[in-house]
Formats: sequence, C-alpha cells, structure tokens
Amino acid sequence: MDTPIKLTKDILLELAEVEDMASLSAEAMRDFFREEIPKLPHLPSSKVVHDPRNQLPIFYSPGRQNRPFIAKEDRSCPICEGNLTGIIDLCHLSGEEYAFINKNLYPISVPQGIAHEKNNNWGLHFLLWPSNIHERRFENMEINIAHKVLSRVILLEKILLNSSLLDKGYFAFIRNEGQSVGGSVYHDHFQMLYSNQEPLSFREDRNFYEKHGVGPTQILHEEISTELIVLSQGEWQLVVPPYIKRPYELMIYTPNRSNVHLNSLSETSVRDLTFLLQKSFQLQTSLFKHLGKDKAYNLICHNSGYGSIYFELFPMVQPLGGFERLGLYLSQGDPIEGAELYRQLLFS
Ligand SMILES: [Zn+2]
Repeated sequence: MDTPIKLTKDILLELAEVEDMASLSAEAMRDFFREEIPKLPHLPSSKVVHDPRNQLPIFYSPGRQNRPFIAKEDRSCPICEGNLTGIIDLCHLSGEEYAFINKNLYPISVPQGIAHEKNNNWGLHFLLWPSNIHERRFENMEINIAHKVLSRVILLEKILLNSSLLDKGYFAFIRNEGQSVGGSVYHDHFQMLYSNQEPLSFREDRNFYEKHGVGPTQILHEEISTELIVLSQGEWQLVVPPYIKRPYELMIYTPNRSNVHLNSLSETSVRDLTFLLQKSFQLQTSLFKHLGKDKAYNLICHNSGYGSIYFELFPMVQPLGGFERLGLYLSQGDPIEGAELYRQLLFS
C-alpha cells in the first residue's frame, strides 16, 4: 500500500466494544446501541407512520439531512480519522487489513420505546466497513477476503433473526453508492437494519409466496430467456429481469428453495454469491463510465424468509416522472439490450 493506513489496528481495538460478535448475545448488542444513544448527534422520530393504502412504513429523521457528504477526493475521511461509534465486530482479513461493523451515527431507528409496538420506530442500524484501508473496495477484494467480509453480515443476520429481541424482526441489508442515491461517504460500506417494521418489498414477497407457494424468482427462473442472463455462478444467476422499471436494473437470485435467508446458504453458495456481487458492482463502474455519468446505484437484499433469497440492483440512470408516481412505468432501456451491454462490459 502506497499511503500508510490511518485507521490502524490500535485505533480499531480502542473503538471495539467487543472483537468478535460471535461471542455477543443479541441483548448485549442492543445494550451497546442503547449506551450510544446519548452520544448521537441526531435521533430519528420514535414514531412510524404507515401509509393506510399499502402499510408502507415511513420513518422521519430530519437530522439525517445534516449528514456530511464526503467525496472520494476529500483528504479528511471521517472514517479514516477514527470518528466512529463503538465497534461490535472486528474481523482480521490479512496483514494490517480489517473489516468491522459499528453503529450508524445517523440511524433511521434506535432501540427505544416498546419493541413490539407497531407504531414505535425500534431498530438497530449497523454499518459494515469491508476494509479499514480507504482505497480498498469490496468489489476489488480477493474473493477469499470478500467472502470473509460477507460472512460477517451473515453471522449478524443469524444472531438477530434467531434472537428474541422482537416477536417478529426483519433484517435489511442494503448498499447505496453515489451521492444522488443516498451514499454519503466514499469509504466503502454497506448498511444493515434490524427492525420491527416489515419493509414493503418483504410484504410483497410474503404475499406472493402465500398466493403461489414459491417466491417470485422461482417462477422467473422457469421463464427467463438466455438472452437476459448476464452471468451464472454455481446456483446463482445474474440477470436483467424482463420486468425492469429502469434501464440496466439487475437481479441476483438462486432458485434453491431452501435458501430463504443469508444464513441458510452453504459456504460454497456464499462464495458464489460473493463473486456475483463483486461482478455486479464492477459492472456498475463500467456501466457509468460507458454512459459518461457519475456512478450511483442501490442494492437491496430480499431475505424475507418467503421464497428463495434474491438481490436487486438499481442504477440511477433515469429520474422518476409523474406517470411513474401514478404507477405507469416507462423504462428508457430495454431488458435484452441491457443484458447485452452488461455481457459486453464483462469482457471489455
Ligand atoms: Zn476513509
């Protein structure tokens, strides 16, 4: 590494409340969050409002608009400067490199009030930093290292979904990259939220499963044409679904019905998923370069427990118009053309 590592092992150890979360109970994890609440600059509203038309949960957090945006070229990265909340998992990768999980400084939920109350915003909002090294990104890590990083998210999902913190808790795993889609810090990271609120996409997957007895991607798998497949790896497929709402949307899915959560996956399956996640992020770099635009995309994970797990990736290439708000979508890109371009970019 050309530049010295700012966020050294010693600093990380000082911030670590515990080194390996495998030794931590979900209750102890919740208590670490509670201890942090008085130190947070902004708290979200404790109330959740549900849109009566579709039960969409809406959180309110005016303080999040004060989050600083830290671009790649900014010299003072707050993460590298060690301006972090307490670390609840520190994972040695190799040499001087570590991945770590801490609490979000601008959480959308905190563990306060009655956990089981539907209108109470109760949750644990985590950040996963794949590397303490500023320039390192998940997509360019050696596969073994990236696999190790993803395994920490899987362990966190397992601990929380098997806990009794909530009657019914939901584990959301997302990534925002780019300022226009909510990414605020260049230093590579993912977000995880354990919440008492069912995300609308989980509800849709559940409704689909209750109606059809399988998840949406199992039906997609039976019907998808080869021209929509970008890349296959083991039991996983990277595809452009035939029903994209925006150009270049991607889906990563496995038709294996026993894979309903991240922690249901075998080690081989996690490795194959890691590979396709890396490829799909690399493809975003190539895509936005090809389009001559700033990279911006969101990744979401459908691990609702209803039907097999899948991911969706949404590049920000077309704004939302009035017809779309009404529920009539017009995508300025065709699915087959999108898949063709991705296949070209893979080998360019
Ligand atoms: Zn940094």
